Amino acid sequence: MSPSEEQLKSIERRWSSIGSVRTLENIAHKNQTFPILEFRIGSTTPSDPALMITGGVHGLERIGTDVALSFMETLIGRWEWDRSLRHTLDQIQLIVIPLVNPVGHAQFTRSNGNGVDLMRNAPVTAKQASFAVGGHHWSRRLPWYRGNPEQTEAGMEPESRALVNSVRGVLKEASFTLALDLHSGFGIQDQIWYPYAFSQDPLPSIDQVKIFEDLLRKALPYHVYKVEPQSLHYTTHGDLWDFLYLEHERKNFLPLTLEMGSWSWVRKNPLQLFSLLGPFNPIKLHRHRRTLRRHLPLFQFLMSLTGSPACMPETDRQKPQ
Ligand SMILES: [Zn+2]
Repeated sequence: MSPSEEQLKSIERRWSSIGSVRTLENIAHKNQTFPILEFRIGSTTPSDPALMITGGVHGLERIGTDVALSFMETLIGRWEWDRSLRHTLDQIQLIVIPLVNPVGHAQFTRSNGNGVDLMRNAPVTAKQASFAVGGHHWSRRLPWYRGNPEQTEAGMEPESRALVNSVRGVLKEASFTLALDLHSGFGIQDQIWYPYAFSQDPLPSIDQVKIFEDLLRKALPYHVYKVEPQSLHYTTHGDLWDFLYLEHERKNFLPLTLEMGSWSWVRKNPLQLFSLLGPFNPIKLHRHRRTLRRHLPLFQFLMSLTGSPACMPETDRQKPQ
């Protein structure tokens, strides 16, 4: 069992004293079963605003799961004594799915056990996807394989469906939903990407992104993030967040991706390029720990922002026609 899996098990045991845990799906692979766990804390009123943190969609990008687990540890550690945290969580639903692709994590692959890249797996077709990295149907032995060529919702992988259905359940009633999906492996700087991935068209709710950016700068003036549309870097088929965003055009929903800039870890320690996990994760212990600390102010900001939904008004896209 990896250190992340051990920590996940330990958190699962301790979480019951502060929130709830449920199994979204059990993924069977080579005579073993891998649960996808969803952790909830805070308000249980479905119409309250919601913050969703997800990680481990790509099995090799282990730091995303570790950052989510680090955040959960601070929640457990603060819950006993921190009245301000409890007050914040009284106002919001907080949902964390730290490991969406447990088989990929266990077998050190980007894709799931069927060789499918879950973030290319939704039935969304790009106008013009970037070559290869944008997703393909050539072979499941190659990275970025999209899965079922039929490209239907029913044909999605069980991990994708588990994530989609969890988010849908929240979106159904929540007055505002903010999501942050944790990834790594691209760029020198930490980036917060907003949709679209499938198109270079501007997001219909771009005004809301601008408000987010402005409030982030005001709350954390020296923050490290570059806020950009994903399509600025590459366009892809099958992005699960595009799929959910397009499906919920009447909802007040902002899905974001934190793409942790792994190239800076590689630059400081080029030898890690020669290991399987090296291109996607901080390998040196001190750098790994620094990364686990680095994003806690962002999470605190996201909780405050979700608890102040009037700051994130609905844009034209969400208003009924
Ligand atoms: Zn990723």
